[in-house]
Amino acid sequence: MLPTVTSRPSRPRPRRPGGNRIVRVLLALAVVAALAGIAVVVVPRLLAPGPRPLFQLPVACGETWQLGTYPGHDDYDVDLFPTEGEAWGRPVLASAEGRVTEAGINGSLGGRTPENPDGPRGRGGGYWVKIDHGGRWETQYLHLLEPPLVEVGQRVAQGEQLGKVGSTGNSGAPHLHYEQRRGWEKVETHFDGTPSGITHDDREYTVRRTSNNCPAGAP
Ligand SMILES: [Zn+2]
Repeated sequence: MLPTVTSRPSRPRPRRPGGNRIVRVLLALAVVAALAGIAVVVVPRLLAPGPRPLFQLPVACGETWQLGTYPGHDDYDVDLFPTEGEAWGRPVLASAEGRVTEAGINGSLGGRTPENPDGPRGRGGGYWVKIDHGGRWETQYLHLLEPPLVEVGQRVAQGEQLGKVGSTGNSGAPHLHYEQRRGWEKVETHFDGTPSGITHDDREYTVRRTSNNCPAGAP
């Protein structure tokens, strides 16, 4: 009897050495990068916010400004107008030390300038700056007259000038639109340790405050 010839399954041909391994290494690297991204971006967002920095009014030491809101603004948003003198070009100062995370144009600029105050209205914040103060605290400054005087990534001291008051973006008249944020949300603004009282935007409300955003060592 003839031996039965069993057909053996053909063996897979040997792969090119290394090809599969490179793919696996690349996949592993991608997973590591994704996990690192999650760790850097998401984890800090889940941590409890740090203590509130001692924010100061974002305007010059000793000046008195009117802080206000109006129906349809947005809860906690503050508009600042000087009680004396022109608003155009007044210095906008950092409320506390931190790192600049936005410095550019939000929306569109429009065409409202000191020479043409009734020019075309822009959209959004116009020239703006956002600062990360650590501990998930942020401040933002909108409608600046000119490109910000600071750059993204730059560290700023409390009282450092960020720009000038203007009317770029969706702004009716020269003023500073200002916000304080904790984590995901806007919160009631505090200045020099005292709440502004500007909370909901269901009615017009104004209050006057004097800036204690003074150089270190000043009274
Ligand atoms: Zn506003």
